[in-house]
Amino acid sequence: MITIDGSLGEGGGQILRTSLALSAITGTPVKIERIRARRPKPGLQRQHLVAVQAAARVCNGQLEGAELNSREITLTPQAPCAGTYAFDIGSAGSTTLVLQTILPILLCADGPSTVSIRGGTHNSMAPPVEFLQESFLPVLHRCGISATIELERHGFYPAGGGSIRATVQPWQVKAPLDLMDRGKAIGRHADVLLSNLPEHVASREAQAIKHGLHWSRDEVDEHEVKADGPGNAIIARLRHTNVTAVFTAFGELRKTAEQVALDCVKQLRRYAEGDAPVCEHLADQLLLPLALGAGGRFATQKPSEHTLTNAAIIAKFLGDVVTVVEQDGLSLITVQGRTSSS
Ligand code: ATP
Repeated sequence: MITIDGSLGEGGGQILRTSLALSAITGTPVKIERIRARRPKPGLQRQHLVAVQAAARVCNGQLEGAELNSREITLTPQAPCAGTYAFDIGSAGSTTLVLQTILPILLCADGPSTVSIRGGTHNSMAPPVEFLQESFLPVLHRCGISATIELERHGFYPAGGGSIRATVQPWQVKAPLDLMDRGKAIGRHADVLLSNLPEHVASREAQAIKHGLHWSRDEVDEHEVKADGPGNAIIARLRHTNVTAVFTAFGELRKTAEQVALDCVKQLRRYAEGDAPVCEHLADQLLLPLALGAGGRFATQKPSEHTLTNAAIIAKFLGDVVTVVEQDGLSLITVQGRTSSS
């Protein structure tokens, strides 16, 4: 059994997700202690609890300690098992983070799977569905992974009630990733999403995005979406031939529409001013798939605490397979794959 200290590095939910996935895939029992110790509300919140239960389900594993607020769990896995799965977070907890937990496991199963997850689809501090569809999955596709994600209904904090549906094929041909430059700029677009809020919020945000980025009318759209409660998000992307970067800003109580737009504009400008193809979020999310596949390398900005922590958790199961080297003002991350032993 491997014991993981959940207070390591950034000490959040990602430690849990990566540990569960690696336990299920390698068939190694895992005990995770001090879960989310560095968060204001430590322990398993609904999203994390469903991630734990989902991971156990897709590997026919046995769980101990899987309860709300629990700070310690044990998973004794069997083997990844393809199937049709449905999970309901029962709150606005992030559906995409539950998927992040089980996607790697289902890639290692013996047949195709479909997964439906209900909860939040656009949460702050989590990848929105568009990020997975436009940024994450296309890069995984280059590594030989075949998976799709559909947004069935939007879910925003605090009402939730959204749903996503994913299909995952077993990973057969594993290809290494080489993502060192963005390639040519081929497009840019922003969507302002609004549900159950006054229309002027979307139009002010759209206006501020166009003004802040000098984008044309055709490059920014406003969408009234159906959801259980109020919600507002801006999704902006920069498309290059080798990668699409997706940036998100969320409307919040006591934050003006202009501040939400400015948050998005700043993220996008920061990326546009640099050269790194892989944004901070994509970087931490790519480590596990690369380590399970044929490995590869990519250039990113300075690695985030999430990226370094994820590398440390992967090391507990697979050894020191991730290396980070500073080169010409960028960070070059190399991941050694496990194709030969898979
Ligand atoms: P906790 O509440 O413990 O922080 P968590 O389960 O909500 O836990 P984290 O451990 O913080 O989550 O991990 C968040 C994940 O979401 C990371 O993989 C991060 O890259 C990703 N993420 C956060 N914001 C975005 C964003 N705007 N776009 C894409 N991915 C994002």
